[in-house]
Amino acid sequence: MRTLVQFGATKQILIDGKPHLGTDRLVPLLRNFRQHLQDLGVTIKFGTRVDDLHIEDGRVLGVIVSESADEYRLRSQKLEYDAVILAVGHSARDIYQMLHTHNVELVPKDFAVLGKMSLINGPNPLK
Ligand SMILES: Cc1cc2nc3c(=O)[nH]c(=O)nc-3n(C[C@H](O)[C@H](O)[C@H](O)COP(=O)(O)OP(=O)(O)OC[C@H]3O[C@@H](n4cnc5c(N)ncnc54)[C@H](O)[C@@H]3O)c2cc1C
Repeated sequence: MRTLVQFGATKQILIDGKPHLGTDRLVPLLRNFRQHLQDLGVTIKFGTRVDDLHIEDGRVLGVIVSESADEYRLRSQKLEYDAVILAVGHSARDIYQMLHTHNVELVPKDFAVLGKMSLINGPNPLK
C-alpha cells in the first residue's frame, strides 16, 4: 500500500478497511511506477511475446521472444539473463503448455471464484 502511495495513490488507502484505487487513477500511478523502474535501468519491452525458455543442460539461460504481431514466430530473438521470473497471470495457457513440454512441475491453485451481479430490473434472485 505504501508503495502505491509513493507512486501517486491517495493516502486514504493506508487507513481504509476496503481500500480502492479507482481504475482511472491507476494509469498515472503505473506511469510513475514505470518511470521509476526505467530510472533504475530497467528495460520494459512492449509488444513482445515470450515463446519459449532458452534451456541448456537443464539450466534456464534466458527466453526466446518474438514481436506479438509476428504470429508465426519468424523473427524470434534469444535474450540471455541471469534469472527468469515468469509472472504471466493465470490465463497464459501457451506458457503453461510450453512449461509442460519442458517437464516443469505445475501445481494447480486451490479453487477460487469471484462473482459479480448487477440487476437493473426484476426481482433479486439472491433474496
Ligand atoms: C475485469 C476485472 C476486474 C478486476 N478488478 C480488480 C480489482 O478491482 N481489484 C483487484 O485487486 N483485482 C482485480 N482484478 C484482478 C486482477 O486484475 C488480477 O488479480 C491481477 O491482474 C493478476 O496479476 P498478475 O500480474 O498475476 O497477472 P496479469 O495482470 O494477468 O499480468 C500478466 C501479464 O503477463 C503478460 N503475458 C502473458 N503471457 C505472456 C507471454 N507469453 N509473453 C509476454 N507477456 C505475457 C500479459 O500480457 C500480462 O500483461 C480484476 C480482474 C478483472 C479481469
